[in-house]
Amino acid sequence: MTRTFISKIFLTGLLWVSVWSQKVDAQTGFDGDVAMDYLEQQCDFGPRVPNTPAAQQAIRYFEKLLTESCDTVILQRFDQADPYSEQTLHLVNVVGRLAPEQTPRIILGAHWDSRPRADQSLIDPEKPIIGANDGASGVAILLEIARQLHAKPARIGVDLVLFDGEDWGKEGDINSYLLGSRYYANHAIPPRAEWVIVLDMVGDADLSIPVEPYSHKQAPEFVRQIWEIARELGYFQFKPYLGTPVFDDHIPFVERFYQAIDIIDFQYPNANENYWHTHEDTPDKCSSESLEAVGNTVLTWIYRQ
Ligand SMILES: [Zn+2]
Repeated sequence: MTRTFISKIFLTGLLWVSVWSQKVDAQTGFDGDVAMDYLEQQCDFGPRVPNTPAAQQAIRYFEKLLTESCDTVILQRFDQADPYSEQTLHLVNVVGRLAPEQTPRIILGAHWDSRPRADQSLIDPEKPIIGANDGASGVAILLEIARQLHAKPARIGVDLVLFDGEDWGKEGDINSYLLGSRYYANHAIPPRAEWVIVLDMVGDADLSIPVEPYSHKQAPEFVRQIWEIARELGYFQFKPYLGTPVFDDHIPFVERFYQAIDIIDFQYPNANENYWHTHEDTPDKCSSESLEAVGNTVLTWIYRQ
């Protein structure tokens, strides 16, 4: 009897959730399959490592897509000495702006570079990775959000910033990570944004997103709003508890007192197995459902402002 009773409540809950999410899906239009295509197209270029032809191809691809959906597209180029060789790194943040004069506004960020080494891998650790989840997933969501915002503009301004050089650093050398987000935080295009959301490792088919602790410390109310929307939409991949603190592209913005948060599933795919910084980080480990859960949640928050 108890079991039946519980399952009836459970089913009613499920029905309510599915009706509600269909309604909201239709409102934002975010399409996980389109986002998945964007993820695969980035991976088709190969590893997007600074100073390589694949990186140049990826920049042209982002520029073309963002030109179709944004009011302004800016390639923010900057050079930096490579700490590990004699070469100069030619880095590029790709910025797509919607309603460039509008305030308040939000920065949506994700890194587009992929790691130049597979240091968590036993096989070929010196070779660059494809970075389907660690890199392409966050960018894929931003490209689809841009397409939706072009079709149905938001009331707030939006800056989509694709960061270069997030994953350049060697393990433990934290100064050589986050190259693009540090540069952007120091050279942000005005008017200043109120909020920053960074997406990283959000395509894992086995998605589980606890609250990232630096984000919660910096902007607890903003975190609460995002996680509450996810719950409302039935996206239980968002977990209402704290996870591991992550040194990611939101940190340069946290340091400049933005309401900056990182949406990240750092256990890829789970606590027992690891594809992160290995050659296993490929599109087949990602899913359109995961991209849609994150994209629809973020876009719903934007439309509610
Ligand atoms: Zn990484």
